Formats: sequence, C-alpha cells, structure tokens
Amino acid sequence: MKLENKRALVTGAARGIGREIAEMFLGEGAEVWGLDYKSPDDLDARVKASGGKLRWIVADLSDLKAVDGVIENAVKEAGGFDILVNNAGITKDNLSFRMSIEEWQKVIDINLSAAFFVARTVGRDMIRRRTGAIINMASVVGVHGNAGQANYSASKAGLIGMTKSLALETASRGVRVNAIAPGFIATDMTAVLPDNVKQMMMEKVPFKRMGTPKDIAKAALFLASDDSAYITGQVLPVDGGMFL
Ligand code: NAD
Repeated sequence: MKLENKRALVTGAARGIGREIAEMFLGEGAEVWGLDYKSPDDLDARVKASGGKLRWIVADLSDLKAVDGVIENAVKEAGGFDILVNNAGITKDNLSFRMSIEEWQKVIDINLSAAFFVARTVGRDMIRRRTGAIINMASVVGVHGNAGQANYSASKAGLIGMTKSLALETASRGVRVNAIAPGFIATDMTAVLPDNVKQMMMEKVPFKRMGTPKDIAKAALFLASDDSAYITGQVLPVDGGMFL
C-alpha cells in the first residue's frame, strides 16, 4: 500500500480520469475526498465499498469567489491533505476566430484559475506541515497546441507554468508539485468527438490505442507517492508516444 495514512483531495472525481484516480488511491490505503459539481449516482455504493474512506464535496469550481471558502473548510474538516490532484477540467472547442468570450473564459476559469486557488489553499496547509504532493492534470495540447482548442491549450499551458512556479516556491518546505500531460484518453470528454477527429488523433498514437483512465491513474499514483520523492516541477507525458 503506497498511500497508507495519506489524505488526498481529487477534483473532478465523479467520472473519467478523476474517478479512476480516486479509486486507485483508495486501493492504496488513502482517505480520499472527491470533489465535483454533483454527486455521482453511485456515490453511496462507492462510499460503502471504500469502508467510509471516500468522502465527498459538492462544489462548482466555476464559482471562483466560492472556491477559497469551500477548500478552506475541506482542509479544516479533513485535518489537511497530503495529496492534491487538480483534475477537474472542461473543453469548449471552437476555432479561435469564432470563439466567444464565454467559451474562452469558462475554460480558463475552471481549468486554470480554480486549479490555482485550490492549490494555493491546500498548499498553504501543506507548507505549514512541511509535506505534500500536488498533481495538476495538464495535457499534451498544453505543450503542443491543437487547432480548435486555443482556450483549452492555453489553460493547460498555464497549468504547466503554474506547476513549475509553485514547485519553486514550495520545494524548500517539503512540498512537491508536478503535472501529468495525458494524450488521447477514453473518457466522456473524448467520446463526444466526431469519428473523423478520433481517427485523426489515433493516427498520431504509435501504440495505436487510446489511453485509459487507469494509464493516467498509475502516473498520478507515482507522483503522489514517495516513489517520486526527488521529483518536482516536472510534466509527465502519458500519451502512448504521441509526441516523441
Ligand atoms: P471528464 O469530462 O470525463 O471528467 C471531468 C470531471 O470534472 C467530471 O467529473 C466533471 O463533473 C468535473 N468537472 C467539470 N467541471 C467542473 C466544475 N465546474 N466543478 C467541479 N467539477 C467539475 O474528463 P476526463 O477526460 O476524465 O478529464 C479529466 C482531466 O484530464 C481534465 O482536466 C482534462 O482536461 C484532462 N485531460 C483529459 C484528456 C482526455 O483525452 N480525456 C486528455 C488530456 C487531459
């Protein structure tokens, strides 16, 4: 068990990658606080299966003015977190020249600004306790860009810059901050893409398969555990070799 006696906060834990990370962390002995804008339908069953080690916070991270308060309360109630996974994210794809202010702003608010406010509040307590691992869910498009995703790639590039800056600010206090850059992963987020776009993406993956949420959760487990004790400020691509 790699995360025994650890408390983790995972945002966007209702489904997809966040759900898989929450389940894997529970399996490794952690107490996991999932956060999402709604409770998943099977929450009671999940809590029961976890033996009460899964806790849940309902909060909409697009309400930026409320984020600090929600997270301060969670830190107090949990007694501090050892691990934070800033995973909640959305897409609102459009070509740049057609993109509305709302499409731009909402993606930046949830993917980047909320992640910063959550990391700051959780990180403040980690610094006090001289321990902690923060993992930000970026994307390969935050490094390489993607047509139709100027808002999303800007938010993910911002997360990478934030990761490196926070890592520099917190390393001397025993806190590590890293990012994961997933490639093309099979979740609800990618299920909505048109078949021709999926085909085009698959052609870029040398493994010739989409990644699974488990592929990403394993990387998150590595970055959350002491196995990565000497690693900070890094971006770990988990993309099937998409960008070699
Ligand atoms: P998903 O849409 O399946 O899950 C996202 C989760 O975030 C959902 O549970 C959703 O309810 C939650 N969420 C969204 N907006 C929220 C808000 N305002 N407040 C609280 N919770 C909110 O997506 P996923 O594929 O599991 O993506 C997880 C993360 O991985 C995202 O940050 C995404 O950008 C990133 N990512 C995904 C892929 C991919 O191919 N699927 C690739 C690269 C990066």
